[in-house]
Amino acid sequence: MARKSARGASVAGVDDQAIGAEIYDLACEIYPICRSITGQGVRDTLDILSRFIALDRQQVPTGEKAFDWTVPKEWTIRDAFIEDVHGNRVLDFSWSNLHVVSYSAPVHRFISLGELKEHVFTLPNQPDLIPYRTSYYAERWGFCMEHNRLQALPEGQYEVYIDSELKDGYLDYGECLHKGASEREFLLSAHICHPSLANDNCSGIALLTLLARSLAGRKTRYSYRFLFAPGTIGSLAWLARNEDRVPLVDFGLVVSCVGDGGGPTYKRSRRGDAFIDRAMAHVLSRRAPQAVIKGFSPYGYDERQFCSPGFNMPVGLFQNSAFGEFPEYHTSADNLEFIRPEDLARSYQIISDVIDIVEEDWTPVNLSPKGEPQLGRRGLYTAIGGDKGGGQAAMAMLWVLNLADGNHSLLDMAERSGLAFSDIAAAARLLREHGLLAPA
Ligand code: ZN
Repeated sequence: MARKSARGASVAGVDDQAIGAEIYDLACEIYPICRSITGQGVRDTLDILSRFIALDRQQVPTGEKAFDWTVPKEWTIRDAFIEDVHGNRVLDFSWSNLHVVSYSAPVHRFISLGELKEHVFTLPNQPDLIPYRTSYYAERWGFCMEHNRLQALPEGQYEVYIDSELKDGYLDYGECLHKGASEREFLLSAHICHPSLANDNCSGIALLTLLARSLAGRKTRYSYRFLFAPGTIGSLAWLARNEDRVPLVDFGLVVSCVGDGGGPTYKRSRRGDAFIDRAMAHVLSRRAPQAVIKGFSPYGYDERQFCSPGFNMPVGLFQNSAFGEFPEYHTSADNLEFIRPEDLARSYQIISDVIDIVEEDWTPVNLSPKGEPQLGRRGLYTAIGGDKGGGQAAMAMLWVLNLADGNHSLLDMAERSGLAFSDIAAAARLLREHGLLAPA
């Protein structure tokens, strides 16, 4: 990654602004697409991502088993509306793709207002917003609309029309593997099954795409797998087809809702103390002291599948505002005004810092452990003076030398000293160059 922050010199600057704007632009491009767990919307989204990264695309046919689940029929939606007897449009799919319940069965009927209300979802407490609703595994038809608009409809007959189709087809997903020196992997995953919702999860899709593009130009120790799959059934299909790869995953993050100004929020893996959990906690403590870190719970996004007991992968969930806890969640207010380039940039930097820890962590041993080695003689103490930065660098060296007994990794040292990982890593590099440290 062409960033300076790993060396402790990070300030929100030009680079942050540029990447934030780029992520935002990509989120804007994929936002209008009507995605669901299957169908053309997912393929159109993957087409766009393919312009940025080498995406390996997979198609899982309807009926393929994924453990206890089966890939459902493919859903196609072409048009939908509600009209009164005078031909006035009450609702039109082209106004918002949230207006149709995702996976809705087709319908074309004339019904009373009373019957219509049985098929319309609203949010009485947020009466001007359209809710997002799905009906994946039960064949039903339905609409979503503003509560106020529904309340204002006069008695009478209404024409309801949904031109959709459920037929055998495919579930699509895409993955992008950046090969490092080791086969061991860092898995980064975003769900691609939501329609026009900006934070959940155009933000995560766009962020991971540009992160993958950036990693493509970097030589890394670990391999990085980026997975863009529909929620639940997509990650299950991936797991079912890649069960042999699961033990190779040493770190993982599910990324969603990373574009709003709340949080950040990190939910630990089921293991609770996996390396990824510690690295996230460390980075958040430095970059966003207000961050909320939660223990694992079996509700949320695809970490539910990755952390199911049969896999128990070291995968946490990274978000800004937590799903379900912000008023815009799963409503038409989760739009492009709700996410901002600067918040996307912050999320990007947090994940980048975690990658730096994964890449640069090692366990050193002090080659001169009896007493402190004389740093001044080696020119390593000159920086101290009265300068605060120099003092910090010296403190980092003292901590590294003291803890380099072969039992502490650099992340252990950062945690114990309260210093930034980047400072500890820089000190270890310097001490190793001067022959005072070697790998344990
Ligand atoms: Zn969601």
